[in-house]
Amino acid sequence: ILALRDIHKSFGETQVLKGISLNVTAGEVVSIIGASGSGKSTFLRSINGLEMPQSGFLDFEGLSFDYHPESRFFPTATQLQALRKKVGMVFQSYNLWPHMTVLQNVIHAPIKLLKIPRAQAIEEAEALLSRIGLYEKRQSYPARLSGGQQQRVAIARALAMKPSLMLFDEVTSALDPELVHEVLVLMASLAREGMTMLVVTHEIAFARDVSSRVLFFDKGVIAEDGPPEILRNPQSDRLRQFLHRIL
Ligand code: ATP
Ligand code: MG
Repeated sequence: ILALRDIHKSFGETQVLKGISLNVTAGEVVSIIGASGSGKSTFLRSINGLEMPQSGFLDFEGLSFDYHPESRFFPTATQLQALRKKVGMVFQSYNLWPHMTVLQNVIHAPIKLLKIPRAQAIEEAEALLSRIGLYEKRQSYPARLSGGQQQRVAIARALAMKPSLMLFDEVTSALDPELVHEVLVLMASLAREGMTMLVVTHEIAFARDVSSRVLFFDKGVIAEDGPPEILRNPQSDRLRQFLHRIL
């Protein structure tokens, strides 16, 4: 459902993505690991149009972009919006809207962007909140929830848009260790249900046990791409060294 070809992205003189190509098929759960600064976040942000690559091609569910500025397939604002509607993203900082209740956080975008009738949006949001075990908290404000609860609401808020692809960027990194598990359990259950996911993570156990495929980013390129077994049997010295440092 997603094809990227030769994506390049620089900030000023710094080349961050040096020609990334990737095909993702429906239902794949792809973990992305790699050192700090290797371009993992920039890559995820390039997929949903939060960053604009300088060149490269993207195909996603009928959208076809060529990021070369002079191309006639350079994405229009409307096409970027269409892309963002279908791609959910959750970050390290849960950034729920603090002045809205949990329920309001979840129904906001479906009503505004998908034009779903309010009653239906509430019904769907309540079903999502029940599923993540936070139905009782629907009228609470985010500040009254734990970090793990807030992060689960952030995931529910993204799911409320019925995305066909979910991007997760170190969603457990800011959480206290005892709250990490509940978020990983939710992500694992999404994976089991067939959600297509790209997951930047330092949780090697998640990459090993939940994902169907692992990418190792090194200095702006995909240095290794394979089944989770590459975590046990790295093909490259760089991945071996990286795993050695973090395990
Ligand atoms: P981490 O594991 O620390 O999150 P990362 O792999 O996600 O790292 P990125 O955040 O993608 O790495 O950053 C890659 C490089 O791009 C870094 O050198 C960073 O300083 C640079 N960079 C990222 N965003 C910007 C920006 N908006 N302006 C300038 N430089 C940036
Ligand atoms: Mg990052």
